[in-house]
Amino acid sequence: MENIVIIGSGCAGWTAALYAARANLEPLVITGEQPGGLLTTTSIVENFPGFPEGVDGYELMTRMQQQAERFGTRVKSGSLVDSVDFSQHPLVLTVDAERLETRAVIIATGAGHRHLGLESETQLEKKGVTYCATCDGALPGFRNQPLVVVGGGDSACEEATFLTRFASVVYLIHRRDSLRASRIMAERTLANEKIRPVWNSVVTEILDVRQSQVTAIKVKDLKTNAEHLIDCAGVFVAIGHVPKTILFQPFINTDENGYILRTGGASTNVPGVFVAGDCSDHVYRQAITAAGMGCAAAIEAERFLASLKG
Ligand code: NAP
Repeated sequence: MENIVIIGSGCAGWTAALYAARANLEPLVITGEQPGGLLTTTSIVENFPGFPEGVDGYELMTRMQQQAERFGTRVKSGSLVDSVDFSQHPLVLTVDAERLETRAVIIATGAGHRHLGLESETQLEKKGVTYCATCDGALPGFRNQPLVVVGGGDSACEEATFLTRFASVVYLIHRRDSLRASRIMAERTLANEKIRPVWNSVVTEILDVRQSQVTAIKVKDLKTNAEHLIDCAGVFVAIGHVPKTILFQPFINTDENGYILRTGGASTNVPGVFVAGDCSDHVYRQAITAAGMGCAAAIEAERFLASLKG
């Protein structure tokens, strides 16, 4: 029987593990298929307090894991939760086909990349369509080629700026005529001579499925409805995220977009199940807020466990 199982290994998961471990609860972290979460795919993180020069996202997550392990966190690396049964207590999880019972769970599964929803996008994924410039930007096929970034938020700006290191030009396709990104990121992006914004436009098709490699995109101007082609070797989709909560939805209340609803603090509608980070936060979505929520979830879980002892 486990005390606390933490599902997810981003900022929220590791911070929850750190606090639970320091409370001598010997938490078990199920990392998921992307240990360290989305931050490991980002380049430099400049807004996490304590790092005035910025810190590499992968390094930050590795250090958080080491800190949590130092106090007794146990880790199932690369493991996935196959199913949960929160209709009873102890709570039941199936992890890599093995049944696990636990008194408390912290859901910190984060969010994944939103897709454009085009058939050609799916067909050309990893053949020029990608969701991570840090991971794929330096690939030989992208060097000195025109590249496309879709989106207008901080992620899109970060991806576009990063890709200027490799690309001949970066087209930034955005459906409106102003960026959603924070002011500093937006200004930096628009000042970059290699980035060409394409305003009020959406991608309607990615070509060329026949050659199994991206060669161009078809773009529609939303003001005129006119379509035109832009030649490119790669399409980097950065249009936001979707929470990874499907597994829990039979038991845990979510909003219409799948974000887990908190019933106060870090609690959910199921006693003993707590939540932290991007899977329940569509407002702030920052590394530091996820870490703070992880701390809160661990403290609440600790109090819940103490209450069980009466
Ligand atoms: P986001 O802020 O939600 O922005 C998503 C962008 O994609 C928006 O510009 C949106 O357009 C556009 N979009 C959404 N669905 C679309 C669709 N179907 N087709 C075309 N465009 C679509 O997401 P994000 O940029 O990933 O950022 C998420 C959070 O992480 C934010 O809080 C951000 O501040 C944070 N973040 C911070 C940093 C940093 O500070 N270093 C880096 C990355 C992310 P509209 O603007 O029209 O809605």
